[in-house]
Amino acid sequence: MKPHQEVIDRILETIQSKQSFVLTTHVNADGDGIGSELALYHHLRDLGKEVHIINPTPMPDAYRFLDPEGTRVEAYGDHHARTVQQSDALVLLDLSEISRLGALGKALARNGPFKVCIDHHPTEGVSNDLAWIDERASATGELVYELLMQAGGKLSRSIAEGIYVAIMTDTGCFRYANVTAHTHRVAADLLETGLDHNRLYRLVYESNSWNQSRLFAKTIGDMNRACNDRVAWMKIPRRTFRETGTLEKDTEGLVEFPRSIGEVQISILFIEQAADRIRVRFRSPSHTAVDGLARELGGGGHRNASAALLKGTTLDEAIDRVLALVEKYVH
Ligand code: AMP
Repeated sequence: MKPHQEVIDRILETIQSKQSFVLTTHVNADGDGIGSELALYHHLRDLGKEVHIINPTPMPDAYRFLDPEGTRVEAYGDHHARTVQQSDALVLLDLSEISRLGALGKALARNGPFKVCIDHHPTEGVSNDLAWIDERASATGELVYELLMQAGGKLSRSIAEGIYVAIMTDTGCFRYANVTAHTHRVAADLLETGLDHNRLYRLVYESNSWNQSRLFAKTIGDMNRACNDRVAWMKIPRRTFRETGTLEKDTEGLVEFPRSIGEVQISILFIEQAADRIRVRFRSPSHTAVDGLARELGGGGHRNASAALLKGTTLDEAIDRVLALVEKYVH
């Protein structure tokens, strides 16, 4: 029997026996979260189920093409509380902690529907009714693919596109260390449905604005070094967002840039969301781990891509705090 087969069987039983589902993912959804949700959405709809996708934060612009009418992916509001509470099952995709569900998580804390989690993040202790967590998967989309195959589902164009975007975005376009032979086999299967992978690539990665380029140029231009050049760090004060006419969503991809510098083991991006709320994003090449660093700051993530939200801290304080910790993670 394959590892995790027991939990996969139980998830398949849940899908069969229940009728109404709410799918959700973490705050600031990424391509893996959105793509996985939409793939599962179409599968459940094909089975005649009632399905809602309700996320803690709005659909990121970069993935709107996956829901062109804007009718499938909704952002949580108080009026959704009843739908969530009364659904037969809530499926958490690409996250396992209710704490990363914002207001939606708070509504759930007061009891709620049966909870199923499908995720590939390393986690310690999960309180969902059913949890399929497989860290070997490059993306949650890979797990959704497995589930759908086991369910005997058909890979329609919409399902294939969702899974492809999920995997493409979580593997840095099939470059990162999390890519396996299986990842490529799944991708090959998806391509065989006739999907236009180049179109999906262009829609996600070649649709940036001029203002976003100004934000990147300014931030990279002011990049700093630490720990004998093994750490590269950048900061975006709110002032820079104003000056460049950008928003936090426009920072996607920026923290990846210093990974291209040979000596850099850890790349850090500090984002000033508010005077006392700083988001810190970490990236590293495969030989250096940054998940422990993010966890030490109350965040989490993967070995080579992690993040934390520092509350009650100014930008300068956050920088001091993180730089004091980072030394022990480089070698
Ligand atoms: P990001 O830099 O936002 O792309 O996040 C990198 C990885 O860390 C992703 O896999 C996220 O799911 C995870 N992550 C981001 N923010 C947090 C957080 N506050 N707590 C736990 N994990 C996080």
